[in-house]
Amino acid sequence: MLCPKCAHQDTKVIDSRLTNSQREIRRRRVCLKCEHRFTTFERNEGVSFTVAKKDSSIVNYDRQKIERGVFRALEKRNISPEHVANMIDCLEEKWSRQKKQVTSNTIGEDVMQALLGLDQVAYIRFASVYKDFKDIQSFEQELRSLSS
Ligand SMILES: [Zn+2]
Repeated sequence: MLCPKCAHQDTKVIDSRLTNSQREIRRRRVCLKCEHRFTTFERNEGVSFTVAKKDSSIVNYDRQKIERGVFRALEKRNISPEHVANMIDCLEEKWSRQKKQVTSNTIGEDVMQALLGLDQVAYIRFASVYKDFKDIQSFEQELRSLSS
């Protein structure tokens, strides 16, 4: 990343955060030569990993799939899309930090945990789809574990 002031090549990142709405990273940088400080917006390229599914097939990670599931669970709940975007951004950061491949199991569990912190109704909805509750007992068990 070139310094916009003196065109020196070595700059240091001093702050880094995901933008609220989109998949960009806002970085504060400082030039190591002239100490000029500037801000860059860079594509969040950390999100490139594959997902190992239960049937042992491997697919590219697809954010839209997660979003669809989460938004379905959040239907008519009063949660802003920015909240959801932030939540998924954080999870993606975690997953892409871990390794190049994440299991669909990990993704499902992590989304459930994140939803639990956001909205309990959404959590139950998501969990009921994700865990594919076999019977009413496992569903009740889940509800109990929430209130304990
Ligand atoms: Zn400079």
